[in-house]
Amino acid sequence: MNDPVCPQCGAVHIVKNGHAHTGKQRSLCRECGFQFTLHPVWHRVSEETIALVDRLLTERIPHRGICRVTGVSRSWFRLHLKGLSRSVPHDFDHPESSAKKA
Ligand SMILES: [Zn+2]
Repeated sequence: MNDPVCPQCGAVHIVKNGHAHTGKQRSLCRECGFQFTLHPVWHRVSEETIALVDRLLTERIPHRGICRVTGVSRSWFRLHLKGLSRSVPHDFDHPESSAKKA
């Protein structure tokens, strides 16, 4: 069970606060008053899928293809890439655009 945690202060005292215009659940931190939107998709991606995504990334498969094969959403994928580029200094970032380079 993943309790939502406030991204601002780390408190777990979170209450539901209606919905954003995108239809996503909005949450409000009772500790610091920070309002945010959770990313439930992120939590549903299994360790196995993440490992598969990482393996496919090393094969320089187009991002679109990786999403289709593993079934992760593009928004999850973008977040995942962002996390990778912070921790791994690889040139994963734009395999599609670097392929076009002469
Ligand atoms: Zn907070």
